[in-house]
Amino acid sequence: MTKLSGRCQCGAISWETDGPVLWAGHCHCDSCRRASSAAFTSFFGVPRDGVAWTGTPAVNRSSAAVERGFCPSCGAQVFYRSTRWPAETHLFAATLDDLAQFEPQAHFHWAERVAWTQVSDGLPKYAASAEGAEPVENGG
Ligand SMILES: [Zn+2]
Ligand SMILES: [Zn+2]
Repeated sequence: MTKLSGRCQCGAISWETDGPVLWAGHCHCDSCRRASSAAFTSFFGVPRDGVAWTGTPAVNRSSAAVERGFCPSCGAQVFYRSTRWPAETHLFAATLDDLAQFEPQAHFHWAERVAWTQVSDGLPKYAASAEGAEPVENGG
């Protein structure tokens, strides 16, 4: 399996996992946008038990079901967990040591995207979650 590792901006928090990467994509939902202070969030899911942490992330409970981990020193987001996916931890692509290891497959919550985000990567775009849904756009 491929070794993946990453860290926050200041380096106080780092993580390692052998994966496997269960899915990878970009989320355009309002919650991710405001939590990351960015137009959209690029992340991927791995088995929750398979992530080894150095340092202890602080936790922001952004809703009853959701925990967003962040570095208590620099504030960078380092994980997302939800009771909806209890066996997964979602890690942020931008924290990867090797950014080329991120291979996005789709856009999620495309219906919530900001108008000033233009995307031409040809990936399928789902109005919300991909689970049980057909993409609203393919390509373009
Ligand atoms: Zn940090
Ligand atoms: Zn989101």
